Amino acid sequence: MIRFDAVTKRYPGGTTAVDDLTLEAPTGQITVLVGPSGCGKTTSLRMVNRMIEPTSGRISIDDTDTASMDPASLRRGIGYVIQHGGLFPHHTIERNVATVPLLLGSDKKTAYARAHELLERVGLPREFAQRYPAQLSGGQQQRVGVARALAADPPVMLMDEPFSAVDPVVRAQLQEEFKRLQSDLGKTILFVTHDIDEAITLGDQVAVMRVGGRLAQIASPSELLAHPADDFVADFVGRDRGYRALSFVDGSVPLVPEASVRPGDPGEVARERSVDGWVLVADGGQPLGWLAVDRVGAQVDVADLALGGTLARQGGPLRAALDAALSSPSGRGVVVGDQGELLGTVRARDVIDVIEGSRGGSGVQDTPAPGVSP
Ligand code: ADP
Ligand code: MG
Repeated sequence: MIRFDAVTKRYPGGTTAVDDLTLEAPTGQITVLVGPSGCGKTTSLRMVNRMIEPTSGRISIDDTDTASMDPASLRRGIGYVIQHGGLFPHHTIERNVATVPLLLGSDKKTAYARAHELLERVGLPREFAQRYPAQLSGGQQQRVGVARALAADPPVMLMDEPFSAVDPVVRAQLQEEFKRLQSDLGKTILFVTHDIDEAITLGDQVAVMRVGGRLAQIASPSELLAHPADDFVADFVGRDRGYRALSFVDGSVPLVPEASVRPGDPGEVARERSVDGWVLVADGGQPLGWLAVDRVGAQVDVADLALGGTLARQGGPLRAALDAALSSPSGRGVVVGDQGELLGTVRARDVIDVIEGSRGGSGVQDTPAPGVSP
């Protein structure tokens, strides 16, 4: 656990970069510091490994005051990843990854073997070991940076905008892989970004900072989205936050059974089974689409189906259920099981009721759904 206790940093010249910061980064979890440029994120991070000394306040790791520790041994227990990887350009990739173990007196063979293992772990092919940083893409260099920070197996990792310099697609990949890696490793991570989406994707908890180095709010991603503490946080997390919050809530909207018809069924049957002018057509249990009663001829014909309507998977995010209901011509969202089989339908009103209920704190879980991204 990393603890900030009333930590302030004033730079010579008078800038207050961090102002009375108190927060806790729990062991084995990712705590994200997020906020606009210049709000003191990097300064906060670098005070943890004492690359910057606080003006006042206290930072402790597992209840030991870092000020009482020898900076070199403090840093040995802390992996540090920065933008652009911070790799040594004239060293091979394996040498870069092995840097810290070699400094700590590990023999070259052991250090390189560990480096190769870590490269594989972060998703890089073995043959990259002998290349130089300039021969790798930005995303690959970031992976090497992560591997290097992990080399001495430190319990604590500090990561300063590690994925910010790569394009959005690669970035999303790196985030996914990093989450998977962390679920194996369980490091105590303080992660800095200016990107609220990244914060929400990666953070077990998210600390929003405002310029002047003040903490605006610290909360779980779903809590932050659903209940921003003030206008600054609300603006920062985005105006569509209510909609985004839906993706964190796993659905348990009551399903209504939907009587369907099959292609070739008599038109009469379709009219009987319709509700509010619409009947669902399914084949072999798989929904095909909606049929308007006034288009039904002698037989149910797939050529008459109305287009539109997304499907929602049972147990998936409520956002998908709401999408399905809102996009359905009948106003009923089709919910399917894992095999795509029709289970029933939901109405937008019912989905919204569940969402509002969960915001009021009643009944429905509002913890982040693992593996679901906004
Ligand atoms: P962030 O990482 O959130 O962009 P920083 O921690 O780098 O913010 O900077 C916070 C504030 O402190 C900024 O106003 C910045 O200009 C100032 N600052 C950062 N480093 C120094 C320094 N070495 N000397 C003086 N001011 C600094
Ligand atoms: Mg910074």
